[in-house]
Amino acid sequence: MAASKVNTLPKPCTPCKSRHGAVIGAGAAGLVAARELRRESHSVVVYERESQVGGTWIYMAETEPDLLGLDPDRTVVHSSLYRSLRTNLPREVMGFGDYPFVARQEWSGDPRRFPGHAEVLAYLKGFAREFGIEEMVRFEREVVKVSLLEANDGGNCKWRVKSRKKSSGTCSGDEEDEIFDAVVVCNGHYTEPRVAEILGIEAWPGKQIHSHNYRTPEPFKDRVVVLIGNSVSALDISRDVAPVAKEVHLAIRSSNGATLGKQPGFSNMWLHPMIKLVHEDGAVVFADGTSVYANVILHCTGYKYHFPFLETNGVVSVDDNRVGPLYKHVFPPVLAPWLSFIGLLWKVVPFPQFEFQSKWIAGVLSGKIALPSLKEMMENIEYFYAELEAAGIPKRYTHRQSKTQFLYNDWLADQCGIPGMEEWKKGMYSAASQNKLARPETYRDEWEDDDLVSRAYEDFARFTS
Ligand code: FAD
Repeated sequence: MAASKVNTLPKPCTPCKSRHGAVIGAGAAGLVAARELRRESHSVVVYERESQVGGTWIYMAETEPDLLGLDPDRTVVHSSLYRSLRTNLPREVMGFGDYPFVARQEWSGDPRRFPGHAEVLAYLKGFAREFGIEEMVRFEREVVKVSLLEANDGGNCKWRVKSRKKSSGTCSGDEEDEIFDAVVVCNGHYTEPRVAEILGIEAWPGKQIHSHNYRTPEPFKDRVVVLIGNSVSALDISRDVAPVAKEVHLAIRSSNGATLGKQPGFSNMWLHPMIKLVHEDGAVVFADGTSVYANVILHCTGYKYHFPFLETNGVVSVDDNRVGPLYKHVFPPVLAPWLSFIGLLWKVVPFPQFEFQSKWIAGVLSGKIALPSLKEMMENIEYFYAELEAAGIPKRYTHRQSKTQFLYNDWLADQCGIPGMEEWKKGMYSAASQNKLARPETYRDEWEDDDLVSRAYEDFARFTS
């Protein structure tokens, strides 16, 4: 996050108010949002279309019928987890501030530092139980429309939230309307696939899949698979399919120093520059002119922000994956603080950041924390966009943070008058990132930051003993 040009220090507290808030989604973001809003004495309803909490971390063996996820009318499967998925962050870093992600007997029985997905789901369920969050959740209720009601005399907005029972059809009588002061959007952003554009693809005879619909390697047995992308998912999935596939070819936009060609340690894996075009005879041609005949193209090309339920009369829009305009990636200034978003940022440590964002929103809604004026917030956003442009950062990377996440988190903490992120957590994130680069195949099982692990557990003793 760019340093703010505008002075945004909190102003003194006006009388604190309790609001009626709707939280959309009971994944990690929605759970901690609900806790923080209630802690701040707001009344909260969490809408969740699934029958349990956990969001992304609920592994679903089924996939969508449209494996590329392009059909807007398809039956949506929320989660993008594959069966073999282990976390890409160490568990000590991942957890919420006062509910450490330590291994507990009652969870999934996976004490590894980079555990499998079932352990994360068990953690989130434990968190929801510990803080009594489930009682606020309306399960199997999908929010289908969030619309703005006219501002009242005090200038405050109100929202009408329309939801329906997930299993029911569009015209069923099982729809509900409720009016709220504030809506906090926590619907996740790893469900709506972004697919690579490939010259000649209409005539290419092979099968295309987005990583959203990848679960297990078995369907790729004896196939020649081309994976597009350089993310954690591309790395993981290529390693998952390699033992059964005939050949695995990774096509990447920028090699980041990696050597193209046959990959050491694998008998059937190659790294290529991006795909240039494909032919109707099955050939996939790469930018350097080399080609392979492939059966499958697997798009590990990321996701789009998607808010099909949200009607803001054009105040908030998604343009080339920029959700905006948003002050600090959370509040659309014109509708602040009555509409907010948690968890839009990526290349971050998600859960702790969700927690800081939630505390900020809760405090702003109660009037404890003041926002700058509308004009100041808009100026701040314009300044931020101008900085991105000057640095040559594409619009679609607006919500990518990486190194600046800690400055941002500490800024949020400062607004809330609480300590920032623990220093050991910052150090551990950067040690884990370096380790991942140095040992891409084994970083989940070999590391050198045991001193930081000890520091983490000393810290956790405040909550676990
Ligand atoms: P989600 O978990 O997606 O939750 C959103 C919830 O909203 C869902 O329960 C959904 O059902 C609900 N919802 C959506 N629309 C509606 C609606 N209209 N009405 C009602 N309910 C609705 N993070 C890490 O910290 N460590 C990792 O190792 C890691 N690995 C990852 C691997 C993969 C493959 C992916 C996809 C993500 C990974 N993440 C990881 C990031 C992960 O997304 C976050 O950790 C976090 O779970 C996101 O939480 P969320 O609440 O924002 O979204």
